[in-house]
Amino acid sequence: MKMLKIEPPGCALRIIERLRGAGYEAYAVGGCVRDAILGRQPEDWDITTSALPEKVTELFPDLRIVPTGIKHGTVTLVAGEGSFEVTTFRVDGEYSDRRRPESVAYTSSITEDLARRDFTINAMAYDPKSGEVTDPFGGMDDLERRLIRCVGEPDRRFGEDALRILRALRFSAVLDFGIDGKTAASIHKNAGELRDISAERIRAELIKLITGRGASRVLLEYRDVFAVILPELVPLMGLKTRDRFEAFDVYERTAAALKNYKGGDPVTAAAILLRNVGLPQSINGEKLAREALYRLRYPLDEIKKISELVKYSGEYILHTKKTVRRLCSALGYEQVSRLLELKRADALAMCEAERQRPWADVDGISRIFEEVKREGEPPSLKNLAVSGEDIMALGMPKGRRVGEILSALLDAVIDEECENDKEALIKKARELI
Ligand code: ATP
Ligand code: MG
Repeated sequence: MKMLKIEPPGCALRIIERLRGAGYEAYAVGGCVRDAILGRQPEDWDITTSALPEKVTELFPDLRIVPTGIKHGTVTLVAGEGSFEVTTFRVDGEYSDRRRPESVAYTSSITEDLARRDFTINAMAYDPKSGEVTDPFGGMDDLERRLIRCVGEPDRRFGEDALRILRALRFSAVLDFGIDGKTAASIHKNAGELRDISAERIRAELIKLITGRGASRVLLEYRDVFAVILPELVPLMGLKTRDRFEAFDVYERTAAALKNYKGGDPVTAAAILLRNVGLPQSINGEKLAREALYRLRYPLDEIKKISELVKYSGEYILHTKKTVRRLCSALGYEQVSRLLELKRADALAMCEAERQRPWADVDGISRIFEEVKREGEPPSLKNLAVSGEDIMALGMPKGRRVGEILSALLDAVIDEECENDKEALIKKARELI
């Protein structure tokens, strides 16, 4: 019997106790047990119980209940600050579309419930009262050995739900664990099955994967999986570029850059991953990146930010205040800060000779960026003291030329050739017309 002392939040404890008090079994289960043992902060505490969903609902009249997952046996209880998913012990039915179990069959056995879970480290249940861990598949040992291993036969488990392939890679990256040999072989064999998985599910795992500590290693070891979910990366594999001093191909350089990025921001990480996709065709990768993100159903605002970073990532930022100011005005501080992080990660992945070049001096640009930020909000079309109307009032007909004059005026303000003052700008505009 394995014993453990971990402390679920009070709300989770009270939910478990009430279920127990009513004569049911109830445990903390899955990711929270894994993370607590590892000393990581669990994202959420999931509870598994022998009580049927209707019983769970009955037992918590005092809590708000979100029934969204009830078809799969999950009742979400909203308690205090957090919400807790309570799922009835279940075994999964036939897998028809290789995504979701067709039917839910409940069971009264915790061991059977754990058997449907993906990896041994995710298939443990914890009884907070006794401190006992139910661990029928050797999850504790695998945590100790830092290993991702399927519960049961890998081929069958990946055949049931191919998303597990990407989940294995995600846990390997985030926890920096290795993948058991048999599980790894099965991943390579079944990688193509990921084509049938919905973009939303893939994106959710990918986001976590690329911000993980071991992302770079996973990228290199499982090229075949990335080739399926991000075919845009395939032409980078084996592609050598002008920095011939380096033995790396562009895909490996991308992985190296990702390794150098430790910020954990998913937008920056995605931009680092995609920043070279235009290289094989000698084009800016912005459009290809945008298409890839769109296909993966990224939210539109993130697509915009990531593809903008890809677009600007190849541009040489001069070490002048003028350049940095213009960049801040065009992108905003947050994006410039991401762009510099990307450039820093990239520069660290360059060979020694390249790193001596001025464009690799990201620290220098960062210092200028800090100065520019201290000066306050950069001038932009929004806070320019004149508008299109003002230009038209000077006799300029409505049209493209009005916009051109406005942006010339903006540049003049950014470059400190002209005050952001209506009178001064009108005078300047007259010169331009
Ligand atoms: P995270 O910290 O990201 O929340 P997690 O392990 O809690 O990690 P979830 O996606 O929240 O992952 O799933 C909760 C639990 O449900 C997992 O620990 C695992 O036991 C089980 N699980 C989730 N997805 C699958 C799947 N596709 N196949 C089998 N079991 C799964
Ligand atoms: Mg979870």
